[in-house]
Amino acid sequence: MARIALRNLFSRPATRRYPFVVREPYAASRGRITIDFPACILCGACDRHCPANAIKVDRGEGLWRIDRFACVNCGECVVACPKKCLFMGNTRSAVADFSDLAARQEKQVREVAPKPAQAAPVAPKA
Ligand code: SF4
Ligand code: SF4
Repeated sequence: MARIALRNLFSRPATRRYPFVVREPYAASRGRITIDFPACILCGACDRHCPANAIKVDRGEGLWRIDRFACVNCGECVVACPKKCLFMGNTRSAVADFSDLAARQEKQVREVAPKPAQAAPVAPKA
């Protein structure tokens, strides 16, 4: 007992003083999803394959969005993307404010061409 106490007294602590000391992530660890948005064709495959419903793609609005708190870091979206424009880094999201929806969501929006106006119905000739 005394020996263990003495050893603990003179050895380094087993824990880190996070967030002041952050451990380097392992090379193969799963982390933050990022997108090369210019390469994205808004096909929606990532949206359809995401088991956590974290990604929302709306081609009509030119929108790609991810909810980082819903993402479970499975990597399915990366595999499903036909353009290979989704990537998984090995760092975690730096989101601290749980109340701020805008902070937990990342949104990419592309300007889309307006839909052509519908032709007015032609009145039948008398
Ligand atoms: S990593 Fe998995 S949970 Fe996260 S957005 Fe991609 S498919 Fe969804
Ligand atoms: S699967 Fe890839 S190309 Fe398709 S919407 Fe998602 S990120 Fe864009």
